Amino acid sequence: MARIILLVALFLALYYVVRQIASSWRTQNKTASAQQKLVQCSSCGLHVPEAESTVIHGQYYCSNPECNPESSQNPTHDE
Ligand SMILES: [Zn+2]
Repeated sequence: MARIILLVALFLALYYVVRQIASSWRTQNKTASAQQKLVQCSSCGLHVPEAESTVIHGQYYCSNPECNPESSQNPTHDE
């Protein structure tokens, strides 16, 4: 009985390791293709590599802080 549990544990560990390797390999491949893909900034219309763009609510934005709706602060609140 103990041997079966050990076997199952070993199998699960192996499965986990294989999955980790496969997912990291897939991420690397994704990054390589993302660097070549150009996306258009939703704010200024500039084309930037997907790797350098920011995705907010499914929209692409370039690295310009003025284009990024989450990084630009509203200066109307002044104290
Ligand atoms: Zn922009």
